[in-house]
Parts: sequence; structure tokens; C-alpha cells
Amino acid sequence: MTTDTAAAPETHAFEADVSKLLHMMVHSVYSDRDVFLRELISNAADACEKLRYEAIATPSLLGDDPQPRISIILDADQGRLTIEDNGIGMTAADMGETLGTIARSGTKAFMERLAAEAGKEGSQLIGQFGVGFYSAFMVANQVEVFSRRAGTEAAASWTSDGLGTYTIAAVDLSDAPARGTRVVMHLMDDAKSYAERFTVERIVKAQSGHVPVPITLFEKPDADGVDIADGAALWLKPRSEISEEDYADFYRSVAGQYDQPAHTIHYRAEGRYEYSVLTFIPETKPFDLFDPDRKGHIKLYVRRVFITDEAQILPRYLRFVRGLVDSSDLPLNMSREMIQDSPVLAAIQKGVTGRLLTELQKLSDGDAEAYIRIWENFGSVLKEGLYEDFERRETLLGLARFKSTTSQNGWRSLKDYVADLKDNQTAIYYATGSDLDRLATSPQIEGFRARGIEVLLLPDQVDNFWTTVGVDYEGKPFKSVTQGGADLSLIPLAEGIEKPTQPETEAVDSFLTFARETLAGAVSDVRASERLTTSAVCLVAPESGMDRQLEKLLASAGQLPQAALPVLEINSGHELIQALAAADDADGLKSDLAHLLLDQARIADGEQPTDARAFTERLDRLMRRSVS
Ligand code: ADP
Ligand code: MG
Repeated sequence: MTTDTAAAPETHAFEADVSKLLHMMVHSVYSDRDVFLRELISNAADACEKLRYEAIATPSLLGDDPQPRISIILDADQGRLTIEDNGIGMTAADMGETLGTIARSGTKAFMERLAAEAGKEGSQLIGQFGVGFYSAFMVANQVEVFSRRAGTEAAASWTSDGLGTYTIAAVDLSDAPARGTRVVMHLMDDAKSYAERFTVERIVKAQSGHVPVPITLFEKPDADGVDIADGAALWLKPRSEISEEDYADFYRSVAGQYDQPAHTIHYRAEGRYEYSVLTFIPETKPFDLFDPDRKGHIKLYVRRVFITDEAQILPRYLRFVRGLVDSSDLPLNMSREMIQDSPVLAAIQKGVTGRLLTELQKLSDGDAEAYIRIWENFGSVLKEGLYEDFERRETLLGLARFKSTTSQNGWRSLKDYVADLKDNQTAIYYATGSDLDRLATSPQIEGFRARGIEVLLLPDQVDNFWTTVGVDYEGKPFKSVTQGGADLSLIPLAEGIEKPTQPETEAVDSFLTFARETLAGAVSDVRASERLTTSAVCLVAPESGMDRQLEKLLASAGQLPQAALPVLEINSGHELIQALAAADDADGLKSDLAHLLLDQARIADGEQPTDARAFTERLDRLMRRSVS
């Protein structure tokens, strides 16, 4: 056994790049200093992993302390934070090589990027960017590292105030861990909270709760430790070793949800890129589901170290999915901006999105009930993909489920719909609105019902959008029942339903002409309807016009300066219409009737009469007549 008593402390200047980096660390305003903890814990975990690997060849390195361990020791009195591991450790020479230079490609790239953006202070960049060991100087004005390489009988220290030089010295074995590294940070005045249990525990759980090494927190140097992370990376375990309960617990911690996962998707992708995926579909709607920023919630890990939850791994329409992706192919300390541009991430995004949709597809085939529960919660979000993700529109149309006139309680797929097309039916008909019951009874779909033609009832806001982007399914275009002529004449009436008996009369014809003149300015046309069977009137959009629901939506959002005038359709075979048409036109009766029919059509559409006062007066006159 030898004791390293050789060299006196040696002081070195940092490499120019390191000095620059350190200068920025100390002088910039950071948006998120917490990241230094993640960096140091990740180094400690790396050191344990390296030892784990070397011990495969040299088991004696583990000695009588085989379990990897990270300890965080707080000392609020001294304003000190210590992170210690029993990993591989460093010799004095190691320290000189690694803690004074910039060897890592990630940091190199970062510095290059900084140089490229010359002039900018870079503070924001650093704030969101892990820059390894040196980030300790964001919170400490002095950092001491004591280390002992596994399998050696020497210990060394590295000390710096981050201002240009560092000092390496040999130290007594008793001043270093028996194996591994101790990093002692003397906290700056405005960083003393990093010696407080609450702060540290919160950050560690959030950032490093799943590093592959257990973490113990000591509130004081002589206090008993509390385990704050168990070191197991659940997602890396085989599925057979994970219970439902484990998944549910993990789901709640990773998703911040209190419910159960409705569906769990856990797999490992192998091939060009390797990554593990553990995602959950919540059982209930997360509270931020309809937040305007539509943020996703998939965390990105790189080799078990949390990197970011801002990577937007899934498209917005899958933002209800919670969980993580752990990649082996991304560098650990890539900036978020660089991660966004990485082809590895692009491949992961594509792979995970495709897989999730496939899994949903499988679920819909294998367990329709479970799938419908998911659709009921998140269908309106998934439908955003119909106009946002052209590439996957087919798949999404396959996943979509609808209420319809055929099945108002159950759900219909487009496959179901197309299988039940009537002879000569060439389009998929739908009605949009905000209220399912009203949709189901709206006059515009009477003619479709009479012919047994299924009409999809679309009550979600998003339905007003995807239906207008030229979607078709198996070559059948989507067509709104409230738009243009119904053109139903080619499709026979359903058995047992007869065409309205009263023929169109001259009186009705002239009433139509009269109404057209009277209502000019309020409607673009008044015409006999093909789509009505029991109601007297309804409103539809002109052939080239926008769907009426979409129009209303845009108008109410102030995005539509001039709505197109609707068409008033009148059921010319209807008894009431025939009677009205034949009535004597005394005291402006017919004008009142025309206006009232229009208002009636508006009310059936869930609207108000445009002029409530005029409406009341007309109704008033009519009621007086009926009792006089
Ligand atoms: P990176 O972790 O990406 O390599 P860092 O700046 O975080 O970059 O660390 C630089 C190097 O310092 C590491 O690669 C490692 O060799 C050494 N190092 C840092 N912390 C430890 C530690 N706790 N135990 C052993 N080596 C360490
Ligand atoms: Mg590191």
C-alpha cells in the first residue's frame, strides 16, 4: 500500500473556453439555475454507471460496497451543499483532464453556438441549458471536489472559485470518500435556498427522480438520511416485471394526475435509433386539455436522465398523452433548441406518434368499449389531427367515431357508415352544431331520415374546421346537410315513408315569389325544399357558401366581417304552407307570415329572431287574428 504524498498543490489556469463559460455562469441572469443539481446528480449517476460497467471485468472494484448511492448533504448553517457518490471516482490526473477543459462535445457545440451568436449575452441559452459540472458556479462561489478513484489508494482535491484558476492537490484518504466523488458547493448569498430540504427535495424529485441510482438526502451533515429517489427506472424494466399498480403509481408521478391510466403503452424501439417509451392515456380529461398553448406532456430522457418536457415529441392533437421517451442516441447535454433540430428527435417523434396511433387502432379492434371511453374523453382533441396532420389523416379517420342519425347512443365509425351507404349515395352527410339533441331533430335532416340516409351528428367545435378542408373517406366527400341543394331525388324514400301528398300549387309558387321579395336582404333565396318532410321551413347555406355552423362560429369570434345570406327552404307540400299560401292577404298578413316562417327557421337552428321586437309584434297580430 502506498500513500500519495507526492505533489504539492498545483494551480492551473482554466482553458480560455472554460473561462468564458464560467464568466457567463457567474455574471448572467439565469432563468433556471436549478439545472445545476440535475447536472451534478447526472455526473454522480454516470460515475456509478461507469463503475458498474468496469466492475463487470474487475469485480474487486466494488469492494464491500456494491450498491451505487448518491448522497445529498445539506448544511444550511454553513451555506453548503454537498453531493457525494460512490462511483468510479477521479485521480488527480483525471481531475486535471476533465475539470479544467471542455472535452465534451455537447459543451463544445454550445460554445460554438454562442460564438455564432456573438453579441448576445447567452444568458437565456445557459438558463435552459445544462452545461455540466461548471454549472455548479451558477450557485457557488467556491467549489471543492474530493475524490478517490475506485481501486486506488490515493485521494485528491480540486478547488476553484471559478475566477480563472483551479488548484489540484493530494489529500489524506480520510478527507475523501472511501470510493467516488464529493462535490462541496459554498453557496452564494442569493443561492442559500439550495441548502434547504424543501427546495432540494422538490428539485431532485422533479428532475432526477428516476436516475438509475438511489438518492438519499441528509438535512444536516449529522442527520439521518431520507431516501428521495429509489434509483429504479421503471420504463427500462421488462413489462412482465411491472404490475398495474407500479404503472399507475408511476403514471401519477410522471403525469401529475390523480386518476388511473386508461391505457398504458410501454415498449422499446430498436433499429436505427434505440429508445424506450412509456406513455399513458389518462382516464379523465386533464385540466389543461383546452389551454390555448396546447402543450404536450411527454418528457424526454436521455439514458435515464431527464432532459426536457418541452420537446413536443407528439403532435398537439395527442397532447392528452402523458409519459416519457428515453433515448440512447441523443447527447445528454444538448441544448433544447438543438434537440428540437435533431434528426434523432425527428425520428423518435415520427416513430412514437405512429406507434401510438397503431396502438389506438389495435385497442379499437380488440376492446371497443375501452377505446370508446378514450374517444369520449379525447375524440374532440384527436379530431384536430384531421386538419393538422395531413399525412396521418387516413389513420385518424379510421380512429374517428361519430354519433349519427342511425345511432345516437352508440358510436359509428366511417367504415360502418360507408358499409351502409344507400344506392346512389355518393357523399358522407353530416350536420354540425353545438347540441346533439337539437342536431338530431333539426329540420335539415328530415329528408335524409326519410330516405334512411345516415347523417353524422357533429357537436364539437373542431368539427366545423376539419369538415371544410376537403376531407374524404374512401373517395366519398363529406357534405354538410345545411349547405347547398340537397339533391336527394335520386335516392328512394325508405319503405313506409310517402312523399308529402299535396302537390305544389300555383298559390304556393306565388307565395314563394312573394316571400323571396319580402325577405330580400335577410335571405339570399327562398325555394321549395327537397330535404324537408315534416317541418315547414329550414335555413341552409347557399351552394358556394360556408357551412352555416362554421359561419356562426367565425362570426361570433369576430373573424367574419360579412356572413353570406342563408337560403330559406320551404316545404311546399306541407299542409300549413299550402293553407298559408291560399289565405287572403289582408292587413299585411302574408308579409307577417313570411317573416315569422323565417324566424321559426332561425329558432329551429338555435338562433334568435334577428329583430325580437318586430317578431313579437307580428306574433301578436297573428294571435289577435286567431281569436277575433
Ligand atoms: P459530462 O458529464 O457531459 O462529461 P461534465 O462537465 O458534467 O460533462 O463533467 C465533466 C467530466 O468530469 C465527466 O465526464 C467526468 O469525467 C468528470 N466528473 C464529473 N463529475 C464526476 C463524478 N461525480 N465522478 C466522476 N467523474 C466526474
Ligand atoms: Mg455531466
